[in-house]
Amino acid sequence: MQIKNFCLSIVCLMILIGCNQKSTNVSNQITEKPKQPKNIILMVGDGMGLTQITAGLYSNSNKLQLERFTKLGLHKSYSGNNLVTDSAAGATAFSCGVKSFNGAIGVDLDKKSVKTILEMAEEDGKPTGLIATSTITHATPASFIAHVDSRQKQEEIAADFLNTEVDVFIGGGKKFFNRREDKANILDSLKAKNYFISDNFEMEVDSLPFNKDQNIGYFTSDSDPLPVSQGRKYLPIAAEKTISYLDRKAKDKGFFLMVEGSQIDWGGHSNEGDYIISEMLDFDKTIGKVLDFAEKDGETLVIVTADHETGGFAIQYGSKLDSLKMAFTSDYHTADLIPVFAFGPGAEAFQGIYENTAIFDKMKAAFGY
Ligand code: MG
Ligand code: ZN
Repeated sequence: MQIKNFCLSIVCLMILIGCNQKSTNVSNQITEKPKQPKNIILMVGDGMGLTQITAGLYSNSNKLQLERFTKLGLHKSYSGNNLVTDSAAGATAFSCGVKSFNGAIGVDLDKKSVKTILEMAEEDGKPTGLIATSTITHATPASFIAHVDSRQKQEEIAADFLNTEVDVFIGGGKKFFNRREDKANILDSLKAKNYFISDNFEMEVDSLPFNKDQNIGYFTSDSDPLPVSQGRKYLPIAAEKTISYLDRKAKDKGFFLMVEGSQIDWGGHSNEGDYIISEMLDFDKTIGKVLDFAEKDGETLVIVTADHETGGFAIQYGSKLDSLKMAFTSDYHTADLIPVFAFGPGAEAFQGIYENTAIFDKMKAAFGY
């Protein structure tokens, strides 16, 4: 009888161990399954170092939408020819995966064109978009669509918009398309390519034909858009409307979108803390809109980062919540490590410390290219 009980206990024990092993295996399988996003939204806060983020946070009653992210990393921002990058080389690292020279737009150190993640997405049949609060031909957005050896050549960059079928672009810089040295009218050429082009700077983003299948090019200004403190309103609503437009157009193919808060950098260059903070909070509000979509959608990878820090910005002793004592060490960029925030399927890959070019590699892998 006792032997029988002993044997029964052994059998029970073995079943228990077996069950445990089985359940461990099952949970491993679930966590190890690679997650691929359908959509990628890359958000670049130009010049948005950790202090710019901190200044936004402590000027907004200690709250930011950025706090919704749980996967964080850092990237090494230096370029191919300078420890201190500019926005052109910085964005080319994200768009093409190469460390190029300062000023480079979608070209490598030998000035050779390199295919961008936006162009790869287009070739894969995904709709794409670019939104900025600078001219749309400015270094950051340009690096996703153009291949030019100097960021200064904004007219050449504008002409490159005819070589890529970007579905929607929103930003300033209309004059580079229709008041050019070569007298070409790129706006007419875009219209001939089925773009709805808005000439009306006062137009509300809401009234763009987002419900149609036509491509959209909306110019918010002739040259640089206004700072948000002087009445610019379009970034959060443009991001929200563009996402639902791309999502509808994508069907099950997924989409790629780059959204830039361009002027955080300009506040750094001019050493104006209030300029940095207002632009930072406008960008953060936009991040909130993007995350609202991504949370509901469940198939969207959102990455928020910067190309570099600007201003050698510091928050000094004597600062209080909502009243900061700010200082600068430079009117140019610095070489700081830059934070990366990721959300959604594939976000885990953005944890750790890596080169800025790895952001391209990780996006490419996430799309399965
Ligand atoms: Mg920029
Ligand atoms: Zn800059």
